[in-house]
Amino acid sequence: MEPNRVALPLHGTLPSPSSAWIVALASAVVLAWGPARAAEPAAGPTRQYAPDRDFDLLHLLLDVTPDFERRTIAGAATLRLQPNTRPLREVRLDAVDLNIQSVSATAPVQAWQSTTNQLVVTFEQPLPPDRETTVTIVYSAEPREGLYFRTPEMGYREGETHLFTQGESITARNWYPCFDSPNERFTSEIVCRVPEGMVAFANGRLVSREPEAGTGRVAFRWLQDKPHASYLISLVAGHFRSIEDRYRDVPLAFHVLPSEIDQAPNSFRGTRDMMAFFEEEIGVPYPWAKYDQICVNDFVAGGMENTSITTLTDGTLFTADTENLEDSEGLVSHELVHQWFGDLVTCKDWSHVWLNEGFATYYETWWLGHRHGRDHLRYELLGRLRNLTGNAGDTRPIVRRTFQSPDEMFDHLTYPKASWVLHMLRCQLGDDLYRRCIRTYLERHQLGTVVTEDLNGVLEELSGRSWDQFFDQWVYHGGYPDLEASYHWDETQKLATVSITQRQPVNDQVLLFRLPLTLRFKSKTATVDRPVVLSRSTEEFQVPLPAAPEIVRIDPELTVLAKVRFVLPLPMIRAQLADVDDVVGRLLAVEVLSGRKDRESVNELRRVLNEDAFYGVRLEASRALRSIHSEDALEALLASRAQADARVRRQVIEDLGGFYREAAFQALRESLEREKNPGIQAVALAALAGFGKAEVRDLLIRFLDSTSYHNLLAEAAIRGCRQQDDPALVQPLLDNLRRREKDYTTGGFISGLEGLAYLARNDEQKDAVREFLLAQLEQKKRAVPPAAIRALGTLGDERAIGPLQKFASGGKPSPEREAAQRAVAQLRATRKPVDDFKNLRNEVLDLQKTDRELRQELDDLKKKLEALPPKPPGKPAKKSGSR
Ligand SMILES: [Zn+2]
Repeated sequence: MEPNRVALPLHGTLPSPSSAWIVALASAVVLAWGPARAAEPAAGPTRQYAPDRDFDLLHLLLDVTPDFERRTIAGAATLRLQPNTRPLREVRLDAVDLNIQSVSATAPVQAWQSTTNQLVVTFEQPLPPDRETTVTIVYSAEPREGLYFRTPEMGYREGETHLFTQGESITARNWYPCFDSPNERFTSEIVCRVPEGMVAFANGRLVSREPEAGTGRVAFRWLQDKPHASYLISLVAGHFRSIEDRYRDVPLAFHVLPSEIDQAPNSFRGTRDMMAFFEEEIGVPYPWAKYDQICVNDFVAGGMENTSITTLTDGTLFTADTENLEDSEGLVSHELVHQWFGDLVTCKDWSHVWLNEGFATYYETWWLGHRHGRDHLRYELLGRLRNLTGNAGDTRPIVRRTFQSPDEMFDHLTYPKASWVLHMLRCQLGDDLYRRCIRTYLERHQLGTVVTEDLNGVLEELSGRSWDQFFDQWVYHGGYPDLEASYHWDETQKLATVSITQRQPVNDQVLLFRLPLTLRFKSKTATVDRPVVLSRSTEEFQVPLPAAPEIVRIDPELTVLAKVRFVLPLPMIRAQLADVDDVVGRLLAVEVLSGRKDRESVNELRRVLNEDAFYGVRLEASRALRSIHSEDALEALLASRAQADARVRRQVIEDLGGFYREAAFQALRESLEREKNPGIQAVALAALAGFGKAEVRDLLIRFLDSTSYHNLLAEAAIRGCRQQDDPALVQPLLDNLRRREKDYTTGGFISGLEGLAYLARNDEQKDAVREFLLAQLEQKKRAVPPAAIRALGTLGDERAIGPLQKFASGGKPSPEREAAQRAVAQLRATRKPVDDFKNLRNEVLDLQKTDRELRQELDDLKKKLEALPPKPPGKPAKKSGSR
């Protein structure tokens, strides 16, 4: 699974494109994990283990007829199974909120009962272990999870009705009775009966597509003839349009809602090359009959790797006018890699899910490196390293057993940290041996389940080395090495000394690390690499050299997940910045210079921003200039706007937004008008919103009504309105949301509700906004009512307490109930003695007014000042290296 690729809640300053796509799972499911063979959900986090397999599930036949108007399904699940070892009187299946109508079997059934989370079938006689039994369950369901409808009645586009399922981690049980744990595999056959004109997709190959007599429906029958786990079952049905391709004998297809067909090729394009690359890299052929990718509305994650059929968020689609700002490569390659790691071999239980996600994340990076070059690979790895090593407080291990819901396991440890662990393995084994190990691991465990020790076993067997310490420190314990290093040169002895201390607190959670790494000494004439192994808390390494080095680097090839603080003299940093062979060294040098204010450093950064060969270094130089924040830095940014690479151009605009200066304002204004790339226009608009000028207000209102793909520019205007925090924007935004609701994505509309409440929070008269937000509580789009409830909390109108109470005291736990409880508490807490509150509000309003007036005066003064002395001729012109 790939979580929604949204803003990174973690630390660090270098979110490279895909490292920024960390966990934002749909709200956690409050369910005990695994088929709760023991009774009810536990109260708090308990240790979790794979459940017993009382029987071997051989085959599932699932026959589903959706009713799109009522958003229900009628189903029949037929399970062929055989007891494992012991005779079995009872068969227990996971089933939540299924209305079971009948249970029949090839052996006499004594009785069946539905509990809150299981279906228990009791047979008259124990089923013997040597015989197969077939059980058929007829049921209906109106699933709240696991299967999701998208229909016009819910506010989705006409002509684009569809449904999709999502099994991982444990939601399959909400739409069919199953053994809902990854440690059981079975073949599957899915029949879906849909109205004529619709299509249905599922795992495996299409066996038949037949019109039904008299119903107006068409039955699609799909067969997955290789065994897979329950969470990998997928059904997607509705109105779709498709484009197709082929890799060898594997049919590839990309399906989108009809209105998105023009965008489909942009995201689909790389799939065939990726498949070829992964087959070569992994050494095992693509294991399934076909590969479908389907984009759906408001998917619950970023992507999901069901066997042979991946579901993707439609948020991954993009238009060509965004140049290279957007792509689907990371997401598409991540899900494709899962077809091997996760699908062909599957973690036995969720505590080992890093064996799915770590590989998917690592090979995604490897693909990007293959496609865009070695510098890109390193930039990705460094981005992740910086994020991970900004998280010192988290000392949990990658493999852990204590959690309430397995959804909690899908976090930065399971994704980027695990990918880094694999990278370290690769670095220590070398490419060839690493690939041989991974191939053996896959071949040995294909169509089966794995735990961490299965990987360890293969590594040990093929390399002859013990990896126990490696796994102990990186996988079964938490944290990372926090290294503090110093360098000293002894000219008389011609001796370089590097001292390294491990500063991480060493305790039960975090070990003292054993780390192989390389020290590199570079001079004009030679490069000396000295491999060393750290294993004590402080170590000193002495290296004789022919002459003093110009550059000293620790782990120059980026082979170790460690935070390294290495203070060097400035000339060495400058030499590092000029080293064309060392992208990581240049990125680290930029980071050092970002903490300086001297003119020479600013000039260096300006040169780098316009001339460095790698876009990531240019982009970081722009950020560094912003953080320096001097007049020179501003001038350097102003002179560097004409960047050919859209990613750098966008960064410069964003960083100009960090300056509250008239020149920055004018530059942003200019770029907004001149720029054709909507991704950059959006950033310029957001940057302008930081300026308190009437002109900006007009701009925001104009862009609220603009037309763009997925209404992204209007969404940027909403963010801008919020930043302006000008009550005069309440009415235009309210009108806009009323008129244009359908043009926004669900996320965009929600940010509109939140922005509206925020802007109106100090208004005397909140009735119109309150009523509008209350009306949203009726919405059928799942995410809107909780968002409206949160917005009512922000609005701070106590007259909303009454209606919110109805949600706050509702029966089952739900996002609405949780949001309402918070909002009511928020509203009660802000309820102050009336006079105090009024006084406070008036004060704030007065202050805001004064602030606006002061800003206006300041701007006027600046204008006057700028108008006065004509600029002397010969001011530095734009660098000729940029365009
Ligand atoms: Zn994944």
